[in-house]
Amino acid sequence: MRRAGGAIALAQCARLAGRGCPRAGALGSVVFLLLVAEPTLARSWSFALTVSASGALVLAATQPARAWRRLLLVAAPGLATWPLLVVLTGRLAPWGVVVTWPLLPFLAPTLACGWIAVLAPESGPAWLVSAAGGLSRALAALLIVSIETVARWPGSGLLARPVGPVWVGVCEIGLAGLLLARERRWRVGFAALVTASSLLPIFPRGTARADPTSASLVTIDVGQGQAVLAVAGRHAVLIDAGDDRVQSAREAVLTELQRRGIRQLAALVVTHADRDHSGGARLVLAATPPNWIGVPASVLRHPDARVWLDEAVARGVAVRRLARGERFSAGSIRGLVLNPLSGDDQSGNDTSLALWLRAGDLSVWIAGDNGHAVEGRLLGEGRLPIVDLLVAGHHGSDTSSSGAFLDALRPSRALISCGIDNRFGHPDPAVIGRLRARNIRTWTTDASRTMSICFDEAGRLRQSQPGIEGSARN
Ligand SMILES: [Zn+2]
Repeated sequence: MRRAGGAIALAQCARLAGRGCPRAGALGSVVFLLLVAEPTLARSWSFALTVSASGALVLAATQPARAWRRLLLVAAPGLATWPLLVVLTGRLAPWGVVVTWPLLPFLAPTLACGWIAVLAPESGPAWLVSAAGGLSRALAALLIVSIETVARWPGSGLLARPVGPVWVGVCEIGLAGLLLARERRWRVGFAALVTASSLLPIFPRGTARADPTSASLVTIDVGQGQAVLAVAGRHAVLIDAGDDRVQSAREAVLTELQRRGIRQLAALVVTHADRDHSGGARLVLAATPPNWIGVPASVLRHPDARVWLDEAVARGVAVRRLARGERFSAGSIRGLVLNPLSGDDQSGNDTSLALWLRAGDLSVWIAGDNGHAVEGRLLGEGRLPIVDLLVAGHHGSDTSSSGAFLDALRPSRALISCGIDNRFGHPDPAVIGRLRARNIRTWTTDASRTMSICFDEAGRLRQSQPGIEGSARN
């Protein structure tokens, strides 16, 4: 409001001073003065979006040809803000510009009716308030349903190829040229530049360079929650998707997938329905559609999971019920399910999936929030594998990772996914003590952030953080 007020005041001052007010000059002056008054705006995304949309409108309005001007006035703000949104969100919204046109006419009456309903005096006619409120709600519902429908169209929400400020600059220069061009040949040239630059983030980064024999396991720092990525060559399986209620968790999962150029997951496996494991599933479903989703029966029964399971089915993604004895594979990633039992109709932590995962030469134990009861049953069966790496159950809670269980799995490394100062006190010092007593080098995501474990060329197990070398907890 302050910024808009300042801009209007400036334009009025120019007019009163008899200087006229060329639109582009006015916008430039306003942007300059706002940046002088508030330099932090230079880093504000909302400011950049406002300036680019306003600039596009101002430039489009200078076109003399009426029909061409009308077309540009509708399309320009969407085209100007799209490169910024791709960089800001890392995702594509290819239908955004198209769907804005038919919906725009509904926006003003929705807001106007809403304001009437809110601001109408109490002594005024009740029918006016209820009619305006009802109409505003109905129009808002129409807008929301339309936007949600488009959000499910193919390509919506897909992870974009990583692009940076240079790409944004090329897009904006191309658009500015298109808006200012007076001659047909220049228009064609700039339209080609806008089209070509717009297509760049849609095409996936080539994966041919990926070494088909290399495999790694990545615990993504999603705070309190879990999301673990197994990558082998071109194939990737995501175990759990973090908590969708935490913005940093949402960003962490998508950033890691984007950083690795993963545009399609072989599978998304969700260990159980707790929101800190399953919450991000809907987002992942849109950003990097998996070939199939694997869940235990308890997730199929859980009301919260219905939303994203239904969406998966609508998108044509198969949903597999996983129970003990089931196997799955994607390239050199192979999984064996050891919990829950197939007839399990319980709910709660012990219905979580427990998996023996192999990615290339890497052998990993990973589970949801199973406790000692499940570990005891698996120990009793005497068929636990020996693994290189343990992703500690239940975020390092003392209810998991018993001494006998660690002795059976014999990992040399452990990763614990937990948030900084989480209210559950994860990881439990007793678990850290048990790991330390067995010389198991351990990293926690609260201290070491996202961690990646793989074998190097010499066959030694290595851990690394993207950009930072990890330090062991013990
Ligand atoms: Zn959990």
